[in-house]
Amino acid sequence: MIKTEKVLHLKSSRGRKVRVVREHYVRKRVPCYSSLCQADCDNDGKVLPGDLTHYVVPDVGVVVDYQEIFEIRELQGIVFTQTACQAVHHCKGRRQYNRLRNLLKDPRHDCVLFANEFQEFSFCLRDNGESQEQWQTRCVYSAAVWYYNHLAGMMDVVMITEDQDVIAQYSNLHSGVYVISVQEYLQNFWSELQAAHELYSSICHALQEKESECTEREFSDHLPAEVLEAGIKAGRYIQGTLNVNKHRAQTEASVRTEGLSNKNTELSSEVLVYGNKNRNRAVHGDIVVVELLPKSEWRGKVSALTKGQLEKNGEDIQSKRMPTGSIVGILQRNWRDYVVTFPTRESTQSQSRNSQRILTVPWDYRIPKIRISTQQADALQDHRVVVRIDSWESTSLYPNGHNVRVLGRAGELETEIQTILIENCIHVPPFSDAQLKEMPLNSPEKPWKVDPARVAERRDLRESHLVFSIDPVGCEDVDDTLSVRSLAGGKLLELGVHIADVTHFVSEGSLTDLEAQARATTYYLADRRYDMLPAILSADLCSLLGGVDRYAMSVLWELDAHTLAVNNVWYGRTIIRSSYQLHYELAQTLLNGEQAEVLELTQLNSSERDAKLAQLTQALEILTHVARHLRAQRDRGGALELEGVEVRAQLDNEKNIIALVPCQPLEIHETVAECMIYANHWVARKIQETFPHQALLRHHPPPRQEFFTLLVDSAKSRGFTIDTRSNKALAESLDRAVDLQDPLLNRLLRMMATQAMSQALYFSTGAISQDQYYHYGLALDRYTHFTSPIRRYADMVVHRLLTAAIAVEKGRSPAKALATNKELDELAHHINKKNRAAQQAQKASTELFQCLYFKERDPHTDQCCVADAVIYAIRDNGVLAFVPLYGMKGPVYLKNREGQVLSVGQDGRCEWQSGSVRRYSDRITTTSLIGTTTFTLFNHITVRICVQSSRCHPDSVNLELVGNRPHLSMTLHQTPSHGRSQLVQEVVRLAEGATQQAQEKASWRPELSKEEQEFCQSKSPNLYLLLEEIRELSLMDLEYAATA
Ligand SMILES: [Zn+2]
Repeated sequence: MIKTEKVLHLKSSRGRKVRVVREHYVRKRVPCYSSLCQADCDNDGKVLPGDLTHYVVPDVGVVVDYQEIFEIRELQGIVFTQTACQAVHHCKGRRQYNRLRNLLKDPRHDCVLFANEFQEFSFCLRDNGESQEQWQTRCVYSAAVWYYNHLAGMMDVVMITEDQDVIAQYSNLHSGVYVISVQEYLQNFWSELQAAHELYSSICHALQEKESECTEREFSDHLPAEVLEAGIKAGRYIQGTLNVNKHRAQTEASVRTEGLSNKNTELSSEVLVYGNKNRNRAVHGDIVVVELLPKSEWRGKVSALTKGQLEKNGEDIQSKRMPTGSIVGILQRNWRDYVVTFPTRESTQSQSRNSQRILTVPWDYRIPKIRISTQQADALQDHRVVVRIDSWESTSLYPNGHNVRVLGRAGELETEIQTILIENCIHVPPFSDAQLKEMPLNSPEKPWKVDPARVAERRDLRESHLVFSIDPVGCEDVDDTLSVRSLAGGKLLELGVHIADVTHFVSEGSLTDLEAQARATTYYLADRRYDMLPAILSADLCSLLGGVDRYAMSVLWELDAHTLAVNNVWYGRTIIRSSYQLHYELAQTLLNGEQAEVLELTQLNSSERDAKLAQLTQALEILTHVARHLRAQRDRGGALELEGVEVRAQLDNEKNIIALVPCQPLEIHETVAECMIYANHWVARKIQETFPHQALLRHHPPPRQEFFTLLVDSAKSRGFTIDTRSNKALAESLDRAVDLQDPLLNRLLRMMATQAMSQALYFSTGAISQDQYYHYGLALDRYTHFTSPIRRYADMVVHRLLTAAIAVEKGRSPAKALATNKELDELAHHINKKNRAAQQAQKASTELFQCLYFKERDPHTDQCCVADAVIYAIRDNGVLAFVPLYGMKGPVYLKNREGQVLSVGQDGRCEWQSGSVRRYSDRITTTSLIGTTTFTLFNHITVRICVQSSRCHPDSVNLELVGNRPHLSMTLHQTPSHGRSQLVQEVVRLAEGATQQAQEKASWRPELSKEEQEFCQSKSPNLYLLLEEIRELSLMDLEYAATA
């Protein structure tokens, strides 16, 4: 090792220049991370492949300004120098530096870090009089030459730079080492990679524009970090996440301070930030620091319904005044990729004075317009484009950004779906070749077989257990199967849940594992899904299909046949062969003792068939019996049955929507769900007991009491008391709140209860105290996710924990070191975030399909567009209504911007007239020349569904009042599923597994229909799905509920 000195010129946080001299040690051996290495480098980790035409070494300026280009996964053979990485840290800050580090760590990106300044022969001492830039260039070039020599000339090396002088100076110095510009590089080597070219040109534009910034100040400067920190500590400032109100994005935002220490107890959890100046360039999602305004300047939130952003300030009716503040600094930007729409040609012309800077409108209402420098504005005007924000100076009214890529024409299904994905930060490219190479083979020529060596390590259930699966029709990814059998001459029962052994195929840290972790879940949209794992696993080798040998992770309970008390639980790896792949309707038909065709038995003669059928039916019966018992047990503990509504789009062959159909719950849904809940619970116990500080569990925090106000008050208006003191009290009082005349009332109350709930979340057992492990909705002290490893990454983590726990039990140490509490907690946060994104994307895609469905129809002639609706909330200028037929919610305006109000005449016709509205707690009245009309909470009205089209934002459904009485064709006993259930055929989403089940409450109907009797609808439809999916979905409407 040789000691030298390295001189650095740094800038202090106050802008002063500081000269730092550091001792610097260089060595002979620094890893090259190339598979062509001839020198036996210590190349631990990922290495660059040898079969490329060249390696590329970007110089400092290129890495600093064009880092995004290197994030394109197609680019290969990238060597980042230490010199360039340090420059990113200094010039661009920690955030971008971390992005670079993540890129280097991520094995899906073909790039490595070369510690050039520690390598004896590539390190350059800075010459006297040499500028920092010149010296850095020399360092990078010297690194490029070192690579060429180190790999014995087997690999050409290309250094790229944006500095023409550098090209002139270095390009002819050394054969095999080329120095060219970024543009030339992309044209020569990646001419097909359109995305890279577009990105390059848009970054170029943004850089050019930045140089010509004007200097007039629009906002006050942000305070320096140390001032902010001191202010927060002293209680003078408050830190929190900025949340912009979607309906009043221009004016209203709030800072949520939840979970942060703040000494000012007067502040409950929110500070209002009113207006653009006070928001001071913060963007929705940023972590900001806010200073309170004097009390005289505090205001309230607006509680009127607003269409878009056009409401005039003066007319707003405000709710109670609340702490109001102004943003003084931003701790962390939360900028992501945004989808924007370019203005039309006409409106661009008025902007033309501003050279090529175009104001684009983000798809998300909450994001400010973004100024993009481009010459393609004309060509882009009908497209949706992905952009990034680069900066927002205090001299600029809008942030500056650059476009990243074009998604396609606005309004086309593909473009809109891609938009939804990007807006939710969902990145689901096709699996790469490198990932697919890790997969086992299974082809007709070389079919996959169980490995005899593995069989010996597993408990073999193929002969001993009758295993079967129950899923929706057409389900491909079967991750759970069941078994039940009698033991000890009928004294004992053995219940078994067998889950796909995904972690057998996906080893921790492999490319497939990392990709699954990044996705965290399979994404289900209205018409498609994006798998978490490659199809060879999810639809084949991990799918517990009928008649084939599969690896499984099993939980077997030995129960007392009489009391159903648990005697013993066995956990472990097994090998199974599922005998039947049932679907819900078939299983229910068998349970009901009706005639049914079981595919697996068609080949047998009738006596054999009858015997097998009897055996299967008996198993289903025992299962149902056990599940009822388990459910009753949880009911006693206070398990909740909530309400949500989901409607499935039924498509024809051309993917046109022909109907929107709610789905029917069957008791068998609940039976399967209950067994899964049981398995999840017992696995949670096992891993928590073995690893008290580093197990991944899922909890459901109790709701905050104030969120129940709307529910309690609404129920009171109809004479019902809702007791929210505990989950048990809530469940019981909801059960009692039944209006026999109107079954919808109970549904709506459950929907409101749902909205008051918190989200269920993953956590690490070491991160919170044990009294917070409780799952409020399921009424279980511990819970986790174990049963769907094909589509949820959390379950894969839990499988690994369970494997480790079993090893510990057997006195062995786990095969791999476990994640620490901190690592696991970070992972839990990541998965929670991705789950929220998945739910939001699913909701947005459902709304997209709803809009597509109604857009095709003329609201004034098509009977589909007129429907019954129920008022579920009162606002200052209208009501919120729920349309049960389509499971959709929306505002119904009773007062328009011209000040006219909607009154219903004696003939039942609605008319806009000048008049006034008056709001009460449980009703709203409109008064005009025609008379006074009252709209009361929970009353039925008739609405017309129209689509409100938007050029830049998602289309939305609009409800127009047609009459203040129930829709005529609507009778109380009729609900949407009737008659339609026969129409329910294979729809695209049907394949998506149990979690996609839509459900609809039926138990309170005074008369059961034939279908209901047939399918034995139970009191608690599919609680599992409800809690896991629908509750979390409808939470997104909290904005409506919380402002009441
Ligand atoms: Zn080497």
